[in-house]
Amino acid sequence: MTTVGILGGGQLARMLALAGAPMGLRMLVMDTVADACAGQCAPLLVGDYRDEAALAEFASKAGVATFDFENVPAESAEWLSRRIPVFPGPHALAVAQDRLAEKTLFRELGIPVPDFVDVSTRAALDAAVAQVGVPCILKTRRLGYDGKGQFRIRSAADIDAAWAALGAQAGSVGLILEGFVAFERELSVVAVRGRDGEFRTWPLTENWHVDGVLSASLAPAACSDELQAQANLHARALAERLDYVGVFALELFCRDGVLLANELAPRVHNSGHWTIEGAETSQFENHLRAVLGWPLGETRMLGHACMLNWIGAMPDSAAVLREPGGHWHDYGKQPRDGRKVGHATLRADTREALGTALERVGAALGREPQVAPVVERLRG
Ligand code: ATP
Ligand code: MG
Ligand code: MG
Repeated sequence: MTTVGILGGGQLARMLALAGAPMGLRMLVMDTVADACAGQCAPLLVGDYRDEAALAEFASKAGVATFDFENVPAESAEWLSRRIPVFPGPHALAVAQDRLAEKTLFRELGIPVPDFVDVSTRAALDAAVAQVGVPCILKTRRLGYDGKGQFRIRSAADIDAAWAALGAQAGSVGLILEGFVAFERELSVVAVRGRDGEFRTWPLTENWHVDGVLSASLAPAACSDELQAQANLHARALAERLDYVGVFALELFCRDGVLLANELAPRVHNSGHWTIEGAETSQFENHLRAVLGWPLGETRMLGHACMLNWIGAMPDSAAVLREPGGHWHDYGKQPRDGRKVGHATLRADTREALGTALERVGAALGREPQVAPVVERLRG
């Protein structure tokens, strides 16, 4: 039996390991820290991703490699790919690591994107703001996640502060200025492509962020077949161009019935956690099937599902566990401000039942503001 090696030992690796167990898979996780939470569910190799000796040990034990985060050094992915199969491949990873490269690709494929300009100097930032207009967002091209490495520019008076916050990174990770999209909704499509090119998507998911961090996801998103078809086309075009293998998510803004691409996450995605209980096959199982070259599982939904993220610390579990369709996920991480430590998924056969369950859980946990936009959408 092949051992699946995962670079990165966070909750995504943990959920991949859990999905692999019933299929008899052996897993190996590599992380830089000994308390990586995936280590509670799979053998853990502690090492630096740039250290050849550590990578060599990883490659000697794993039959195939994949990732739980997108910021794996590109050279390490390349190095590994000369020794064992690596999915997604280093090229797809490299494109998704760089906001400028990914947005350029979106545009090339005819996928609508917010205005964007590469920014390398203070003078270039002035020119970029003049070109894109305000409001806009200055972002690091690389290494950002959970809204880190971003600065919102509401008027020209904010340019100084934006440069003071991020200018020092212009020469290292690079900067990009994006137009601020006054979207009606944020959506994502989670997709999977097998080694043989078989391609599937899960139903569109609507997402709510608080301070740049995902707070809640609802699936299926209340949207037309036309919108789902748009999302599927964009995801398929990307997957085929990148010869992508595995699961990825395309984050989208919906404005005036048009989808604009925000970013491509080259891995299983937080907005797809609901698929564990809410779909015939979860994103984690299908990612493993894809990287192993196995047939993909059906992606159809089982009713309606909402995922709530627990950020910073875990709430009490009782209210969720009491729900007939309530599922509790604790990643076994130490509490820390802003850290994703767990999530809950509520699943129900009807929108009405899901809305009622969410209201009960929100009230019991004192988290009415977290559930309110989802309940409103379900009732709307
Ligand atoms: P992730 O954790 O999803 O990888 P990230 O740090 O890569 O996050 P983005 O996805 O670029 O960051 O931005 C985080 C959130 O900030 C978005 O989901 C959206 O809510 C908001 N946002 C980002 N860019 C824009 C934009 N151009 N217009 C409007 N809102 C935006
Ligand atoms: Mg991102
Ligand atoms: Mg994002």
